Amino acid sequence: MTTTPTVNILGLRYTVRHVPYIERDVFRAGQIDHEKQEIKVLDSLTAEHSEVTLLHEVVHGILAHLKCWEEHNDEKLVQGLAIGLHQYLKGSSEACIPTLTPKKEHLHEQKTNLKTGRNSSKQVA
Ligand SMILES: [Zn+2]
Repeated sequence: MTTTPTVNILGLRYTVRHVPYIERDVFRAGQIDHEKQEIKVLDSLTAEHSEVTLLHEVVHGILAHLKCWEEHNDEKLVQGLAIGLHQYLKGSSEACIPTLTPKKEHLHEQKTNLKTGRNSSKQVA
């Protein structure tokens, strides 16, 4: 059984989909759709680039839900926060980044509590 990866953004569950392209004529590594609660990540990215892209879209989601539109539209700020969070999460032995493609041998849901920075893991298979 394959589960669709999701992330929790301020209490709203977003589906994460790996897609061969975001837009046909313009390179985009990722995109968030607030109405559909969906994040698309380009499936040709390296694992690390994919993680940063997911965090980038999550930062967009947080800022949108907080109605911080000026910050939401500031790509330098959003990317800086995504890279900073990625470095923190990768550098902490307790932290983990939500898995995009859970391996069959350890299917579990990983969540990062954005308020505390703590992670929880829930066995789903
Ligand atoms: Zn962006």
